[in-house]
Amino acid sequence: MSRFYITNAIAYVNGDPHLGHALEFVQTDVLARHRRVRGDDVRYLSGTDENALKNVHAAAAAGLGAAEFVADRSAIFAGLREPLALSYDDFIRTSADPRHRPGVERLWRACAEAGDLELRSYTGRYCGGCEAFLDDADLVDGVCPEHGTAPEPVEERNWFFRLSRHAGALAAAIESGELDITPEHRRNEVLAVLRGGLADFSVSRPRERAGGWGIPVPDDPTQVIYVWFDALANYVTALGYGNGGAAHTRWWRDADERVHLVGKGITRFHALYWPAILRSAGEPLPTRILVHDYVTVDGRKISKSLGGAADPADLAARYGADALRWWVVRDVPRSGDADFREEQVARRANELADGLGNLVSRTVSLAARGEADGPTRNWHSPGVSIARVADPGLAAVIDSVPGKVDAALARFDLRAAADAVWGAVEEANRFVSARRPWELHGDARAAVVADALAACAAIAAEIAPFLPGGAERIAAALESGDPGAARRLFPKVA
Ligand SMILES: [Zn+2]
Repeated sequence: MSRFYITNAIAYVNGDPHLGHALEFVQTDVLARHRRVRGDDVRYLSGTDENALKNVHAAAAAGLGAAEFVADRSAIFAGLREPLALSYDDFIRTSADPRHRPGVERLWRACAEAGDLELRSYTGRYCGGCEAFLDDADLVDGVCPEHGTAPEPVEERNWFFRLSRHAGALAAAIESGELDITPEHRRNEVLAVLRGGLADFSVSRPRERAGGWGIPVPDDPTQVIYVWFDALANYVTALGYGNGGAAHTRWWRDADERVHLVGKGITRFHALYWPAILRSAGEPLPTRILVHDYVTVDGRKISKSLGGAADPADLAARYGADALRWWVVRDVPRSGDADFREEQVARRANELADGLGNLVSRTVSLAARGEADGPTRNWHSPGVSIARVADPGLAAVIDSVPGKVDAALARFDLRAAADAVWGAVEEANRFVSARRPWELHGDARAAVVADALAACAAIAAEIAPFLPGGAERIAAALESGDPGAARRLFPKVA
């Protein structure tokens, strides 16, 4: 049994939840649920990033205090738990959670004691959207590629983190695989940044520029801690790092795997800045950074102008969590941006109804009718265990699914994992159609129905990390043997 700690990036609260969030949350949730199904000890952390300066401006524009504004906004993100069927174990709010500030302060002091924090006068070009100073190498045609705006010249005194001191150790950790970055081309990008030389980075800003929002620098009240140092710390502050809690030892220091799932725009912060901060503080590094690409909607980058077109809660309300999650795992490639079109979710909803729903529905109906005939076994009595598939051809496909799912998810390929499960659904449907149990009698019929039931049960178990709600309904239909329930597993969409 492995002890597995996984996080998604805490969400900025000043925008609305969109499909990019749904993608990241569902991917993280699938990996967490898969490891739970396999018997690993799992903790999944989510949360919201609330100490950014832009929240102060957004709150003022909305006529609210910053604390009230971020609390309202955070609730919207936390509220995705039900519609997306998320299973996070913990949700941290960086401005309000009492665990966060002591943890950030402890992390700061640890880095200071290691000699990695220095007060310097600094002139640079600052992107307000990124809340980061950008170098020439970060700009495309003079503008920030994430925000499309030119960074503004800023001169001020800041505390700096001496990232450059850690370059050799970071390169060694990444090259040895101690810190894995997946997919491979993202790892290569990070190594290229390392070879280009690492610049020390600012970890504080003057208190007045922060509008009094954020965590003050320990022992220097003229400065507040810059949002990246503050935000990255959430992965350990949520474990009670600030108070030396047992969860910190259990889920960070002694965990077998510490995994961060992030979007491609923040790879550098997670693969270089964060491991360097941890190293400075004497903490173990993450073991893996999993990087996803972005979602476009009808060919356009997600932005506020798209309005609710990509609202995950709305899509889940109309198509169901299963269909939306199935879109994430079936239509989003392992690398490369995914273009979302609403008809794709409808298509995935119908795929579930026609493929998996139909398989379970006709299998349960056959079992129920078999019982009415008299001589066959009472399949749906509670407590009747469903055996392994006996037919060698069907068994070979069904039995190969767990290994294929494990291998695909280990390389962060959710699409290949879902393909493996779906291959079993198709094979089971072919098996039932070819054997025509409705034309058979007695033991011959019972054997086919038993195999179909066994295949449905095995598929429900393997599809559970992807479709937790659907898998539960399948298990309940198999248990009750109610053909009506089996017909209502996955609604068709017109
Ligand atoms: Zn930017």
